[in-house]
Amino acid sequence: MRVIVVGAGLGGLTLAHGLRRAGIDVVVYERDGALGRPQGVSVHIDERGASALRGCLPPAHAAMAEATMGGPREQTLTLSDVEGTLTIVGAQSSDGVAGRARPGRQAHRPLLRAVLLTGLQDVVRFGAEVTRFERRADGTVRVWLADGGTDTADVLVGADGIGSVIRHQHLPHVRVVDTGQRMLMGATSLRAVTGTGLPGLIGDNPATVRVRDTTMALSVLRFTESPIAARQRRLPALHLSSVTEVEDYVMWALPITQERLGSAESPTTVWHKATEVVLDLPPALRLVVTEAWPDVTVALRIGMIPPMPAWPATPVTLIGDAIHLAPGFGGNLAMQDAHRLCQALVDTDRGRLDLPEAIGTYEDTMRRNSFSTPVPVKAGT
Ligand SMILES: Cc1cc2nc3c(=O)[nH]c(=O)nc-3n(C[C@H](O)[C@H](O)[C@H](O)COP(=O)(O)OP(=O)(O)OC[C@H]3O[C@@H](n4cnc5c(N)ncnc54)[C@H](O)[C@@H]3O)c2cc1C
Repeated sequence: MRVIVVGAGLGGLTLAHGLRRAGIDVVVYERDGALGRPQGVSVHIDERGASALRGCLPPAHAAMAEATMGGPREQTLTLSDVEGTLTIVGAQSSDGVAGRARPGRQAHRPLLRAVLLTGLQDVVRFGAEVTRFERRADGTVRVWLADGGTDTADVLVGADGIGSVIRHQHLPHVRVVDTGQRMLMGATSLRAVTGTGLPGLIGDNPATVRVRDTTMALSVLRFTESPIAARQRRLPALHLSSVTEVEDYVMWALPITQERLGSAESPTTVWHKATEVVLDLPPALRLVVTEAWPDVTVALRIGMIPPMPAWPATPVTLIGDAIHLAPGFGGNLAMQDAHRLCQALVDTDRGRLDLPEAIGTYEDTMRRNSFSTPVPVKAGT
């Protein structure tokens, strides 16, 4: 069996590892260059993402990813300014019930991406934008690249994110709806804010603060094992540059409307906007934003894809943001999809299932689990 994956994001790379480990011929076409584009600094990984990583990646890769995550996050704290002191006034269990987060750990996104890319040098083709596909009479699928090249495989997987060209062609009726909500997200060196007492107060848990009309979410990523030491012990093949400049940090998010965001788009203008938004908040929280690394600040557009009825299973399928919605846990669903689809394709390759049945079963499960509400999309995508 030969599989073409479009998109080297969390889902596409997880799938590529799983297929390769099973001896299935796989190629990943990625529009961007090897450095990719900024996608935020950290990602909350719950059991769905963690078990997909363990199920698809070689053991050393999975161990490297897990060793360097932050500590366990089991509840979401509510903070308030009580007589001039930031104080914990509530705690909600992270149990995944009624839209609440699931327990998990925070991963440094560029490091996770570097781990996922390690060992796939001969599989991922960077700077290769797929523009369309054609299902052929012999059952195979051909893709066209922006440079005029073509490639053919037994299965085509659209792992190409929210603006998916594969979804546009395969399910042209599906639309991404802009909710008008935006999320400013950034990160700040832990050293710059340790003196405020805030990192000690919240520990490894995410926290939310509401003051008048302003809401801020924040959490601390303290690497459980230093990435440099972990690389040495677990995955020496990991590119050294992906671990040398990593330090503990605070990640923060500020929900606002598009109207209030205005035309701010570049990391620096978005960071300036964030410093205005936090003017009402206590000094410790203002410091978190004023001391932030401006170049990693992003504005996410919150979009949604309305649920859709089932479609017939074909050799063309979709995973992750290309097909479904997940406010705050899309990465986990993308990796979970990758794991499930990988198992289905391995069953086909080994003769245990035929291809339409395998893809149909994967898509049924994916639709049941994943169609819900708004998903963050980086502004401009
Ligand atoms: C700031 C931020 C914070 C987030 N935090 C969390 C979190 O804490 N937990 C969580 O679970 N999720 C989180 N998410 C969501 C998560 O990042 C996404 O759901 C996840 O990345 C989706 O993975 P994917 O593989 O489906 O798509 P993507 O990661 O979007 O990857 C798609 C890839 O396809 C490539 N591509 C697109 N079109 C083409 C084409 N035509 N040809 C070739 N390549 C193409 C793109 O360049 C990209 O590399 C966050 C997102 C952001 C932006």
